[in-house]
Amino acid sequence: MPRRMLIAGNWKMHGLGSDLEEVREIAAAAETLSTVDVAVCVPATLIERAARAVPGLAIGAQDVHSAAQGAHTGCVSTAMLADAGARLTIVGHSERRTAQHESDADVRAKVEAALAAGLAVILCVGESLKTREAGQAVASVATQLDASLPATAANLAVAYEPIWAIGTGKIASSVDIAAMHAAVRERLRAAYGGAGDEVRILYGGSVKASNAAEIFAIADVDGALVGGASLKAADFLPIVEAAAAAKSSPP
Ligand code: PEP
Repeated sequence: MPRRMLIAGNWKMHGLGSDLEEVREIAAAAETLSTVDVAVCVPATLIERAARAVPGLAIGAQDVHSAAQGAHTGCVSTAMLADAGARLTIVGHSERRTAQHESDADVRAKVEAALAAGLAVILCVGESLKTREAGQAVASVATQLDASLPATAANLAVAYEPIWAIGTGKIASSVDIAAMHAAVRERLRAAYGGAGDEVRILYGGSVKASNAAEIFAIADVDGALVGGASLKAADFLPIVEAAAAAKSSPP
């Protein structure tokens, strides 16, 4: 079966109650595009309000702690996210790997905890510019995956996000995206056998309306993780529409 496209917004540290109107607008349009899965990962403070406001849209978190509970000031558990109405969470975003010093082992623990709690997961991987220029991009992403993939593939998506493309307006070339997504697919098959074909591989890094169709035409690109262009429905929805228009890549 072809994989359904998934377009997920990552609001990062943006969004107040007054921005829920954007989520409502996204939800209303997403409902009419039944061939694409749409999710919006809002700040933790907005999850419950967003989930109540748009019960038909998948509302997600941007991070989660791996422990069930305990002395972890400022952190949020998987059960808390699910209780608030989250259906998914991003894990291992490069901004967290860098700023919060999250290791692949930390990331794997978070992914396992989230899946066990019934949350879908978008696991982020990606290389730095230095690594790409050294010709080590594929090897470095393979290493990240081998150290952070969970035991089972169900409810898992992988987002390939070259760090140098996030929020910079730069995107990887179609050739490089195709090569990396093929390499990720290979790692997924090695880890999960046939179930590796069911895992969606998203591209992330400065995706916007003007480049979405070109990116979605690449084999093994099953959608996008979108940062800046997800904050406004007017910017995000054309990306969702481009996904609806793209053919799903064959498994
Ligand atoms: C992201 O933060 O995951 C991201 C891809 O951001 P942007 O689309 O703004 O590059």
